[in-house]
Amino acid sequence: MVLADFDKYLKKYARLIAEMGVNAQLNHLVFLNVQIDQARLAHLIVEELYSLGVAEVIVDYKDDVVDLARYLHADEKRLTTVPDSYTQRLKEFVDLKVSRISINSSDPAIFKSADSERIVKRLAAFNAASFDYATAIQSNKMSWTVAAAASYSWAAKVFPDLPTKEEQLDALWEQIFKTTRIYEDDPVKAWQEHNEKLCKQAQKLNTAQFYALHYTAPGTDLTIGLPKNHYWEGAGATNAQGEFFIANMPTEEVFTAPDRNRVDGLISSTKPLSYAGIIVSGMKFTFKDGKVVDFSAEQGQDVLEKLMATDDGARYLGEVALVPDPSPISQSGITFFNTLFDENASNHLALGQAYATSLVGGERMSQEELKASGLNRSEIHVDFMVGSEQMDIDGIKKDGTHVPVFRGGDWAE
Ligand code: ZN
Ligand code: ZN
Repeated sequence: MVLADFDKYLKKYARLIAEMGVNAQLNHLVFLNVQIDQARLAHLIVEELYSLGVAEVIVDYKDDVVDLARYLHADEKRLTTVPDSYTQRLKEFVDLKVSRISINSSDPAIFKSADSERIVKRLAAFNAASFDYATAIQSNKMSWTVAAAASYSWAAKVFPDLPTKEEQLDALWEQIFKTTRIYEDDPVKAWQEHNEKLCKQAQKLNTAQFYALHYTAPGTDLTIGLPKNHYWEGAGATNAQGEFFIANMPTEEVFTAPDRNRVDGLISSTKPLSYAGIIVSGMKFTFKDGKVVDFSAEQGQDVLEKLMATDDGARYLGEVALVPDPSPISQSGITFFNTLFDENASNHLALGQAYATSLVGGERMSQEELKASGLNRSEIHVDFMVGSEQMDIDGIKKDGTHVPVFRGGDWAE
């Protein structure tokens, strides 16, 4: 590590995640999910959490190497066996309103040598078992945040042209610090100002209450219906206890849910995505009445196929997010092969589950009520990037009038 003042910035980063990310407070319980090679960052986060007065930090160290070995060699039946203790633990996390910090640092192609069918099968079993937990998180019953950390293998994928592993790692850390405003004197204050800006755009869209959005770009001509009382959100969210938190760091998006049954036309992806350690790129989707009726991918077609076979909702959209092309992540020109970064460089959509908070009062609705209101339900939520500087988006009002929302990849006003 040759990055100047690395220790100082890593500590500031840990503080930001604890204080702003999950907004840790006196007597909170916090669950930290992190790869084993990020122990140094984990130690700093734990320290900051206790200094903010939390009652206990529970740390799960993950290990991609062990997971890869499991995908390659484990007995077929064991692969999809979900221990009762796993489900029980997540239930306790919901009951005790345990905040969650996830640190993302995986090699985006870590599982490329494994059989994608085995990966998708295991994920499906664990996603099904953790559905109630995921639903609690997605409806903000407790605070949660996803942030990143640089690993050698991920950095090598993003900066293959840099000569040494150390330089690759430094370059990625530098991008992480830049995009999470760590180089600012007061990152927390910088985040508050950033959040205000995003909230303003969200408010405009909430007031407009468009009936639909119409996307045009090379390879794209898509109309996305928006449900009645849909709600656009910016960076910050509020949990069921009324506490503010930031779900993604970095974040540049404002997002809501589409009407699952009113999506029609063609859309092309503009960036690759890493799903379950496998890269999927060059995707095209054709929608009719909300459902994907045709699709293809230049790379990772088989993963996409299996993913969309997960359940009924996997072929419908659950998120529509707007990110201006001049956003700092987009302007860096870097493809991170990591959704946390790439989705914040680009307008994106997600297949699968919609956030209950995307509808006014949605947090208090049952699964059936949400679906009846047009919010898609599924065990998956997979974002894919569709934005570019060539994208125009019109808002369509109920009376058919068109209003420019995006022009040339940026806010029309
Ligand atoms: Zn999003
Ligand atoms: Zn998403």
